Amino acid sequence: MRIMAPSSIAILGGGLTGLSAAFHLSRRFPAAQITLLNKDIHFGGWVHSRRAKITLKDGRETSVLLEAGPRTLRPNSKGVLELINLLDLSPSLLTVPKSSPAARNRFLHLPGTKGLLCIPSSPLSILTSGLSPKSSSLHSPLGHILLSAVVREPFRPWNRPLMIEDESVDEFLSRRFGSEFARIFGSALVHGIYAADSRKSSVRAAFPSLWDAEERGRGSLVTGFLRPSRASAIADVNDLPYQLGDVDGQMRGVSVYSFSQGIGALVDALLRELRTRRNVRLVGGVSATGLRMNPRTAQFEITTSSCETLRATHTVSAVPLPSLKGLLSPKTPLPHLTANPYSSVTVVNLVFLASPGHVLHPVGFGYLVPRASSRHAENAILGCVFDSSSMSTQEAPWSADIVKMTAMLREPVASIPRLVDMLSEQLGVRLPDPLIVRVHDKAHCIPLLRVGHLQRMQELSEVLQGEPWSSKLEVIGAGVGGVSVGDCVEAGRRAGRNWA
Ligand SMILES: Cc1cc2nc3c(=O)[nH]c(=O)nc-3n(C[C@H](O)[C@H](O)[C@H](O)COP(=O)(O)OP(=O)(O)OC[C@H]3O[C@@H](n4cnc5c(N)ncnc54)[C@H](O)[C@@H]3O)c2cc1C
Repeated sequence: MRIMAPSSIAILGGGLTGLSAAFHLSRRFPAAQITLLNKDIHFGGWVHSRRAKITLKDGRETSVLLEAGPRTLRPNSKGVLELINLLDLSPSLLTVPKSSPAARNRFLHLPGTKGLLCIPSSPLSILTSGLSPKSSSLHSPLGHILLSAVVREPFRPWNRPLMIEDESVDEFLSRRFGSEFARIFGSALVHGIYAADSRKSSVRAAFPSLWDAEERGRGSLVTGFLRPSRASAIADVNDLPYQLGDVDGQMRGVSVYSFSQGIGALVDALLRELRTRRNVRLVGGVSATGLRMNPRTAQFEITTSSCETLRATHTVSAVPLPSLKGLLSPKTPLPHLTANPYSSVTVVNLVFLASPGHVLHPVGFGYLVPRASSRHAENAILGCVFDSSSMSTQEAPWSADIVKMTAMLREPVASIPRLVDMLSEQLGVRLPDPLIVRVHDKAHCIPLLRVGHLQRMQELSEVLQGEPWSSKLEVIGAGVGGVSVGDCVEAGRRAGRNWA
């Protein structure tokens, strides 16, 4: 169904979703006047990349990049690669090859124990490393759990309950691999991405590839992953090809990437570009306070905190869903806007001066802390990223002089010395006093996509097609189509795809 082309577009929210929508819509509709409202004076939403000054041991002054929001991206999102190409960000790209220890080595800390356990990078690696007399991964508890779960899984019967359309990540993994595997690996993964409980997260929304692999493998995930997936369903007629230039090639063999000035570089480049567009007005520090469709003029009327009324033929909402709910009149509600709770996280950046011979963490991406078994107390720390391993070049040429890590906690930090003690225990290494500590309490920052999320979003989309919205209001963002930066950029790219 094609909808009349917009002559004016209001975009609510200037996080990555809203900025991506503004970028793509202003290219597709150069004659339309676009106004983007953002509550915060700073654009970019949860993206927060800042440099902090430090003095090295020999008195030299330099700075370290500290990320309090997203820090690394995966190259699987073509939408982000396209932005890198169109915004000319290639020169500042920093990539981590899949083959490097910083990408391959990922760890878990099991509550109630000391130190870290290396996660075997693939079931095959457990088998092959098990043949090597030097290897210990087969003998580590993780190797055992992983190997026995993966070897048995293809022989388990197709056990998805009849008629179910979704289930929690924990239920799904327990069904296929057993409850211990689900608790250890599933909960850790959900802690790392959503800071949430895997018993409450939808497997279809959070990890659609797992659900699809189970179907492809006629009940077995392992078989499903070994079978090539069929080309995705017929491409949407409105899909535009990605303009990737040579960025796709630069990403071959890459595990994760960022930029020399962090993920904030993406926001800065989008803002720079949008400020050159004559049809775009960016308004920071002003929030939408009300949204309605005037049936007489067939225009949206958006009231703002600066006591203005913005009128537009089309609107994109890229604010968190509970915020959108607060804008609507009770006469024209939208369903399911508060169905998902939001997780709160405390992010703590720590920088230490490196000392020769005193290794603070193993080379690797970092570690996650799974849900505790019933015998142990839950840990306040969800995980910790070893930034100086995974993105050491952000500090070049001083990267050898400092150690940088970022801890994610499920609750505010009571005391920094206590946090350093907890991290030391988990790392199995006594950490020195940090040179820099930055604590960021992020309230309600990541939507927990609960079981049934896709079905609820389908119902929301159907209501938006009907009166009074008539497909002229698009509702997108982390709480709708997925929380990763790639999902958000992609949602912005697809906004208004049916507008003629
Ligand atoms: C700590 C943390 C770490 C993360 N790490 C990663 C990572 O490593 N990799 C990855 O891919 N993803 C990561 N993510 C997820 C990703 O960063 C977010 O999901 C994404 O940035 C959300 O973008 P958004 O634009 O949808 O929403 P938001 O960033 O929430 O932006 C919404 C915007 O709307 C504005 N707003 C709110 N109400 C109104 C209103 N009434 N009127 C106008 N404006 C309004 C706000 O000011 C805000 O700017 C992380 C998220 C967090 C919180």
